[in-house]
Amino acid sequence: MTIAIYPGSFDPITNGHIDILKSGAEIFDKVIIAVSYNANKQGFLPINIRTELIKEAVKDIPNVEVDSFEGLTVEYAKKIGAKVLLRGLRTSFDFEYEMQLSQTNHALYNDIKTVFLITKPEFNYISSSCVREILLNKGDISGFVPEAVYKYLDKSF
Ligand code: ADP
Repeated sequence: MTIAIYPGSFDPITNGHIDILKSGAEIFDKVIIAVSYNANKQGFLPINIRTELIKEAVKDIPNVEVDSFEGLTVEYAKKIGAKVLLRGLRTSFDFEYEMQLSQTNHALYNDIKTVFLITKPEFNYISSSCVREILLNKGDISGFVPEAVYKYLDKSF
């Protein structure tokens, strides 16, 4: 059974993330979407809210689980016995960063492999940071995030 981890901040999860996740769930037996956090650094949304929103957004995909972790992704991967990291690519800027990250993770843990999936064009421009910016300026984020996430953010901000 091949388990892939899809690690990231997901602050908040967007339609772009969901697209990559759905494709990953078609390829791997199980995909664990793992929200990384730093207890000393408060993100935009608290970690428990981020994970709850993701759980709601992915509840219809049977082979996807949601978890969170602090520290190195490779240590988390070792702990749960996963050897594949799933990451999404939007642009060549993502590629430069992701290549370095993938090589670093491989240097830290020889057994780990990163698999990249390219986003669909309609999600290419979506990022969590843009969603946060639009939200703080009272813009409409309904086309950027899953419905459950939209409902929560619309009510909270
Ligand atoms: P990180 O803080 O690790 O970059 P993110 O939550 O920003 O975490 O992103 C997690 C993963 O999802 C990364 O591989 C990122 O490139 C990918 N990703 C982010 N937005 C999109 C999108 N719109 N389409 C496809 N992949 C995306």
